[in-house]
Amino acid sequence: MKLRALLAAALMPLIACCSAVPCGAEDAVVPAKDSVAVERISFNAPGFIRGMDVSSVISLENAGVTFKTEAGEEQDIFRILSDSGVNYIRVRIWNDPYDSSGNGYGGGNSDLAAAKIIGKRAADNQMRLLVDFHYSDFWADPGKQAAPKAWTGLTLAQKEQALYDYTLDSLNELKSAGADIGMVQIGNETTAGIAGEFSESGRARLFSAGARAVRAFDGGVLVALHFTNPENTAAIKWQADFLDRYGVDYDVFATSYYPSWHGSLENLTAVLSYAAEKYGKYAMVAETSYPCTLEDTDGHGNTVSQWNNSTGENMRWVFTPQGQADEVRAVMNAVNEVSGGKGLGVFYWEGAWVTVGDVTGKSGAEYTAQWQQNSELWERYGCGWASSFSAEYEPDDAGRYYGGSAVDNQVFFDAQGRALPSLRVFKNVLTGSVTADVLLGDVDGNGTVDIKDATEIRRFAAEYAVLSPESLLAADVDRSGAVTIEDATVIQRYLAEFSVEQPINRLI
Ligand code: CA
Repeated sequence: MKLRALLAAALMPLIACCSAVPCGAEDAVVPAKDSVAVERISFNAPGFIRGMDVSSVISLENAGVTFKTEAGEEQDIFRILSDSGVNYIRVRIWNDPYDSSGNGYGGGNSDLAAAKIIGKRAADNQMRLLVDFHYSDFWADPGKQAAPKAWTGLTLAQKEQALYDYTLDSLNELKSAGADIGMVQIGNETTAGIAGEFSESGRARLFSAGARAVRAFDGGVLVALHFTNPENTAAIKWQADFLDRYGVDYDVFATSYYPSWHGSLENLTAVLSYAAEKYGKYAMVAETSYPCTLEDTDGHGNTVSQWNNSTGENMRWVFTPQGQADEVRAVMNAVNEVSGGKGLGVFYWEGAWVTVGDVTGKSGAEYTAQWQQNSELWERYGCGWASSFSAEYEPDDAGRYYGGSAVDNQVFFDAQGRALPSLRVFKNVLTGSVTADVLLGDVDGNGTVDIKDATEIRRFAAEYAVLSPESLLAADVDRSGAVTIEDATVIQRYLAEFSVEQPINRLI
């Protein structure tokens, strides 16, 4: 073990690696200087998942969207996410999201082909993949669990086999494409049904068929089941009991958590702890999100706006990048507090579903022209939540209300695709961030750099002292990302007026 790792161990619980969770970067002890304040979380689970779903991103890129760093440099979004601390990518898969003429239903036209590209690019940027099978040709959620077209008319036994084969074949294809699969969801928001089956035994048998396929694919991959409405405490606990009663084999009990609908964070921790304590399962939030603004940028109304879902006791954070980061940090903390260190992680839902054309500030004919251009892109590339072509499969909802992104105000990018400072919450939760200016070298914060600062670093290195986030940032004078006795030496050289590599005694 390197010295740096030993020092890290003094501040954090020892982090061990396991097959299902990512490693690396966990030993950084120096907080980031940042414009968004983030308080550090002391994570209980090794490699706590700080994940994001970006299932629509390929369709957005096809429509011409580019992503940029906060500094404005165009870059692969997967690199931007990884550099910002995201360590896991979630991708949904629909069996066949196309109409009889081959037109995409929209919602990213999220088929296996798109998932393969996403999985490969995630792996190329050191992020693992959660595969979210909907077992439907379009959106599956608490109110919709339609079977894929190809499974129409199958008996339950035939559907079990079809689901098993589809799962195993798809996972093998994803792996061949280069994805690093760590977890698989058997269905999406399967609170009431899955793949057109709504009976208890039907659901249990399809969950089990999916789990068998994942086990056959790779025994080290986690099996997750995903429910909703944690605020309905009795109902979500019933799901855990029901899975046990039917002997369903799985590892991770997951729920969605949207603050406007899903109750308090204390209750979230409690219901996830129920599955952890009673059945020994890992627990996870598979979807959450929060607005960084109430404005719309694409001309399609948003799920949370000043007219919708923007009030209530659990919409407690301001609608700014700071509030968005606060929500992410708070949900991570709630999952981290699940009993027995069983809280595995949190995935943010569609954190990059940006506008394909900015309508901000436009009105009248100018607005209409931009909306029409956006609408053509949604139809052609499937980059809106639904296209008109979905009507063949889902005439009453998507086929009627199709359009653009309903979450472009809950993303981590502005309307030009440039990263917001809130994105770094995924990294900064490891260390905390410091928002005030800090005098580099002034470890004790008395306004000058003197020998006491070098002494304080030596005491810290010898584990006699604990430093505040501001002091840690000030102490890392060689800007190596860790505080070591080398930093004390740099200060002593500076005080003796020897040359030092990095200018110290300056504000950062
Ligand atoms: Ca919108």
